[in-house]
Amino acid sequence: MDIVKKRITVLGATGSVGLSTLDLVRRNSSKFSIVSLTAYSKVEELAALAVEFGAELAVIGDETKLATLRNLLAGTSIEAAAGEGGLIEAADRDAEVVMAAIVGAAGLRPTMAAVRRGATVALANKECLVCAGDLLMQEVKAHGATLLPVDSEHNAIFQVFDVKRASSVEKVILTASGGPFRGRSYDSLKSVTPAEAIAHPNWDMGAKISVDSATMMNKGLEVIEAYHLFPIKKSQIDVLVHPQSVIHSMVEYSDGSVLAQLGSPDMRTPIAYSLAWPERMSAPVKRLSLAEIGSLTFEEVDLKAFRCLALARDAMEAGGAAPAILNAANEVAVAAFLSEKLRFVDISSVVSDTLAACDIKAPQSLSNVLEIDRIAREAAENQLALRAQ
Ligand code: NAD
Ligand code: MG
Repeated sequence: MDIVKKRITVLGATGSVGLSTLDLVRRNSSKFSIVSLTAYSKVEELAALAVEFGAELAVIGDETKLATLRNLLAGTSIEAAAGEGGLIEAADRDAEVVMAAIVGAAGLRPTMAAVRRGATVALANKECLVCAGDLLMQEVKAHGATLLPVDSEHNAIFQVFDVKRASSVEKVILTASGGPFRGRSYDSLKSVTPAEAIAHPNWDMGAKISVDSATMMNKGLEVIEAYHLFPIKKSQIDVLVHPQSVIHSMVEYSDGSVLAQLGSPDMRTPIAYSLAWPERMSAPVKRLSLAEIGSLTFEEVDLKAFRCLALARDAMEAGGAAPAILNAANEVAVAAFLSEKLRFVDISSVVSDTLAACDIKAPQSLSNVLEIDRIAREAAENQLALRAQ
């Protein structure tokens, strides 16, 4: 008898999370089939993946590459599309699980499309929740969608958070590796290069999130992400540096119990959890050997050296459009740093000056959020121009 396969769409298929997702699908081909795959510019890789997995639809974000995609898929029955409309179409197809693994605010509309048809959305794209957390969560409720956090910390919390007894939760504690510059002073970070910043000690990730980990903006975005995902107050979210990245996060209850989820730092564990949920599936990750690791250590965050975390917390407290502005400014600043047009330590100053220059009136709709994103990007570009003079 044929097992009915779970139908999966991967938005951002050529990225780090996308490829890890497809690695699990490849190893479990009797359980899963692929509906749509998307990428922004790696058209050859996208076409090869679409052929390998027998996708129904392949979408390239960069419209200038549609003709190439069509050529590469000629002779197959795979449909090709491009641009934002194509990305939304990919999310709209009837996959049961949509892996939202586009990086940045670019993932917002496609993720919202999957939510609005009531799909199970495995959410890696944390920037979506940061920019439009209230709206996204309202739509999740309104359309009966299921949101499964893929981010390792939130996936850990999801596994140990007793939602039926949320009032007995006192705290969630997000762990942070501290990134490649843990222990460094603010002054010593003035001259670090993109290559140093993306060399993460524990996790193998895309360039943008790697820089966010180095500035600790990643943890700031994750604090905001946790606030939207779980029924907790802003003041109940703590951050703790844990350099080994073995404890992926913790939940503390009123009786003093602290529940944690542990594992090797490999995204295939939280991805497998999201693909198989509510069941579990096997994942080819290195088994955790605590005896081999020997000791787990913890320390406070140095907010003087890593200002982005404090900025993100302030933006969360300010509410309204502040988190969306923070995110847009950070995306612009990180891109400038990666192309060596901005110093590492100036990422935080571009973000804070952009926040100061923009109106934080709360967005009422998705198009409002996208407008705020556009204005904040312009303001951040102005900040870059000032610094280049
Ligand atoms: P990545 O840069 O490796 O991949 C990003 C994917 O998005 C690629 O497929 C790319 O083609 C696509 N993309 C980029 N810009 C796009 C655009 N404008 N329009 C459409 N598609 C676009 O990134 P990643 O490391 O896989 O991260 C993806 C998301 O998951 C991010 O939001 C990140 O914060 C989150 N996340 C990643 C990890 C990790 O281990 N990599 C862990 C936790 C959360
Ligand atoms: Mg994370």
